Amino acid sequence: MITADIHTHTHYFHGKNTVREMYQSAVEKKLSYYGFSEHTPLPEGFSCLLYREGDMNAAFDDYIRDVLELKAEVEEYNKNAEHKNPQVLLGMELDFTPAYPDYMENIINRYPFDYIIGTVHFVEKQNIGLWDTGKASQKEKFQFFEDYYAFICQMAKWGRADIIAHPDFVKIHCIEDFHTWLQTAQALECLHETCKIIKNSGMVLEVSTGGLNKACKEIHPSPKVMEIAAEHKIPISFASDTHNIKNVANAFDDLADFARKYGYKEHTVFINRKPVALTF
Ligand SMILES: [Zn+2]
Ligand SMILES: [Zn+2]
Repeated sequence: MITADIHTHTHYFHGKNTVREMYQSAVEKKLSYYGFSEHTPLPEGFSCLLYREGDMNAAFDDYIRDVLELKAEVEEYNKNAEHKNPQVLLGMELDFTPAYPDYMENIINRYPFDYIIGTVHFVEKQNIGLWDTGKASQKEKFQFFEDYYAFICQMAKWGRADIIAHPDFVKIHCIEDFHTWLQTAQALECLHETCKIIKNSGMVLEVSTGGLNKACKEIHPSPKVMEIAAEHKIPISFASDTHNIKNVANAFDDLADFARKYGYKEHTVFINRKPVALTF
C-alpha cells in the first residue's frame, strides 16, 4: 500500500482547498506522509493563465507559513499519539527556468524545504499546458517531445531539485502522437539518454495519477517511459498531483499495481532534503 502523497496543491495558486482541508483528506485516507508542493512564483516574462492573478510571492509566503504551522502542530501531536497523523512535509513544485538560475536558487534557499520537485512546464517560453497541438504537424510535435526531454536532462544536470515531476507532461494534449513517437527508434534513444542522465543525477522520478485527470487520461509516465526508467534502476516517488480534497491519494492502488509491473517495490520520500525509502 502506498502511504505517501507528496505532490499536491492548495488554493494558494489554482487548487480548490486550503492547507488544512487537504491535510484532513490525507488523515482520512490514512497516509503516513503528506507533502505539500505548491507552484513557485514565476520569473518575469513567464506566465501561466492557470495560476492566480496578483502577487504570487505574497501568496507563496502565506502558503509556507500555513504548512509550517501545521507541520509543527502535527509533530507535537504525534509525540504522544497512539495513532499518529500523517507527517507533514514542506515542498514546492519549482518551474525549471534555466535562464534564471539565481531566481531558482533564491527560492530554494529562502525556506526550510523537505524536498524540491523540479518541473518542466515550459520548454523555453512555450507553456506546454497552453500548447496549441492542433496547429503543429507530427514532425513538429516529435521535435517538441525531444526538446522537452532535453530540458529534463538540463534540469537533472543542474541537480538542485530532488524529484522530476510528471516526466512526460508533454503528452497531455497529444497522447496519440506521443504514443506513436514512443514506438520510434529516435524516442528510445532519447529516453535511454535521458534516463542515464537522471540516474547519474541521483534524482527520483515521479509516478503520478495526476495525468488521469488531464486530457491524456493516463498515468505519468507512459508504460514505455516507465519500462526504460526501471531498466536504468531510477528510484521513484508517488503522487496524485491533486488540486482538491477529492483526489488526495487518488487511484493509489492502481498506481501501486502499475509500478509493481516494472519491478518496483520501494518509493522515496524526502525529509529535510534526504531521501527515505519506503516499501509499498
Ligand atoms: Zn506540474
Ligand atoms: Zn503539480
